[in-house]
Amino acid sequence: PYILVTGATGFIGAHVVDELLRRNIKVRAATRSLEKGESLKAARPKYTELLDIVQVTDFSEPTSLLDAVKDVTGVIHVASPFTFNVTDNEKELIKPALAGVRAILEAAAENSNVKRIVITSSFASVVDVNRTAPPRFEYTAKDWNPLSYEESVAKETSPVIAYRGSKKFAELEAWKFVEEKKPGFDIVTLCPPMVFGPVVHPLSKVEDLNESNASLWKVASGQEFPAARVPFWVDVRDLAVAHVEALLRPEAGGKRYTVTSPEKYSYGLVADIIKEEFPSIKDRIAAGNQPVVDTHDLDGHTAAKELGVKYTGFKQTVKDFVEEALSLEKAN
Ligand code: NDP
Repeated sequence: PYILVTGATGFIGAHVVDELLRRNIKVRAATRSLEKGESLKAARPKYTELLDIVQVTDFSEPTSLLDAVKDVTGVIHVASPFTFNVTDNEKELIKPALAGVRAILEAAAENSNVKRIVITSSFASVVDVNRTAPPRFEYTAKDWNPLSYEESVAKETSPVIAYRGSKKFAELEAWKFVEEKKPGFDIVTLCPPMVFGPVVHPLSKVEDLNESNASLWKVASGQEFPAARVPFWVDVRDLAVAHVEALLRPEAGGKRYTVTSPEKYSYGLVADIIKEEFPSIKDRIAAGNQPVVDTHDLDGHTAAKELGVKYTGFKQTVKDFVEEALSLEKAN
């Protein structure tokens, strides 16, 4: 039997694939581009036997997923648009996010072997931007972004807010599906904040970095400091472990977890780490001052306790990312 991973050729998905393979679990990696899928496989020669690539071109055609879920006992659904470079919020962000969740759940419900679906949601579906400290407070998995559907799809809404809507409404759709249809599987949703770390998915140039790592690269390559939206982050490798544990631990079924490092970050801190660790590029680093916002918290201890996640330190994550990104820059 296989575990199906969607978004397998993306930043987080490829790490999830690797975490499964490390444990000798057979993986069916779904991708929109077979070419990317093949390069994912070619980069893992040790695991040729364990790794199967499947092309899922369009989530709006669930039939293409019926093949993908054949012989599958669990699904890790990572795929969803994560970009702020859009002109039509509903068409480019919200509809595909919803279609993805629906298509996966519907296809899985047709296959009685599927027992668990882990869904990559986001802190975007948790955060309430109008909630401010003091008094100090802690976000937990009980919190939901109060954003309305109408506001997230509105033309004048910024893509950052529309993206938050895409994650909230896709996750809600999954909970509703399970409650109403009572399929033969349960779900676990994971809500990570900004995810950073080394790149293991097929990527040919730094310009194509995924949205979150692109923010680190803006600092490293001397562009401007990105806006400090939230001080929370998690290492991609720790998040991959969380996904696999959420799949394997029976007691995690039906739960929603926020997954975050206890350390907080700012792009000012990123600049300091790069200057210290990479002296050869210290003169080009984005200039500025951005203190760490430390007025509220996000629960990472429940996931640590219940999913056995151990959080990597921020310095290590930034170091590992920059090292990779610099070699990618050199190769071009
Ligand atoms: P990437 O952009 O690297 O990966 C996104 C993945 O989703 C890609 O594999 C892509 O497929 C797939 N995808 C995007 N749009 C569609 C679509 N319309 N139809 C089918 N597949 C699609 O980003 P990440 O790896 O960072 O994001 C993965 C998930 O994690 C997303 O659900 C995102 O919301 C969530 N997340 C990310 C955070 C972060 O900071 N990075 C934080 C919190 C949540 P393909 O490879 O074929 O292009």
